[in-house]
Amino acid sequence: MIHPIVVGNWKMHNNYAGSVLLAKEVARYSEKIKHIDIVLAPPSIFVYPIYESLRARPSNLYLGVQNMMWENEGAYTGEISSIMVRGIAEYVILGHSERAKFFGETNEQVNKKIKNCLKNHLNCIVCIGEYDKYDLEDDYERELTRMKSDKGILSGLKERLTGLSAEDLENVSIAYEPVWAIGTGNNASGMYAGAIASIIKEFLHKELGISSSCRVLYGGSVDDKNAREFAAQTSIDGLLVGGESLNALRFAKICKIVSEVKSGR
Ligand code: PEP
Repeated sequence: MIHPIVVGNWKMHNNYAGSVLLAKEVARYSEKIKHIDIVLAPPSIFVYPIYESLRARPSNLYLGVQNMMWENEGAYTGEISSIMVRGIAEYVILGHSERAKFFGETNEQVNKKIKNCLKNHLNCIVCIGEYDKYDLEDDYERELTRMKSDKGILSGLKERLTGLSAEDLENVSIAYEPVWAIGTGNNASGMYAGAIASIIKEFLHKELGISSSCRVLYGGSVDDKNAREFAAQTSIDGLLVGGESLNALRFAKICKIVSEVKSGR
């Protein structure tokens, strides 16, 4: 059975005191939220103090970072590596669209990062998403072809996952994040996100030989009002939450909704 997951991507927000407080508040709420994994991805400088301040955290609450380098060490000013992360955080978000938009990150670089991350026994959350909405209702087959063509989400995903075995991918989750929905308040509909999550799963299974246990998350303007719509989709195994993860109560509500819907309670 796939274990649902909700990830909070704090991006470059908050200061030291605010970050530790936010993490503590989420930890307090998480104690009562069962049946899902919850991951907090603060700015990397705050991961260690949060790790220290949450020594007695609930067993379903994990820490993550928002990016890392593909080498273990070296002359890479400003970067952190997976061997630095290991032992402090369990997850790494890789290939977020903001990394491509602001830093020119390529699929090839994301692929190298995933490989390094897995070699060092970290779990990856690999993001993928289109810039312009697919029009599945107008012509499903045409849009499926577009997804598989150059610059389509499926060909992008294939490039990101090149050279990885089905076994490697046991520790990879895919975050489907349409770029037009990130930080815009213009979330995808549950049906649209569910349809694409299911296309991604089929692609992973049929074309890349990856088992159906690979989690596919949705991300893009998720809040406590629309979370149920996404959680209700059988193809969506969790959520990647940006803006709303900066508010402990609302983030906890989203986690609770996913827990309730997925466990049928
Ligand atoms: C994100 O950062 O991946 C994200 C989905 O952000 P938001 O929830 O703010 O749209």
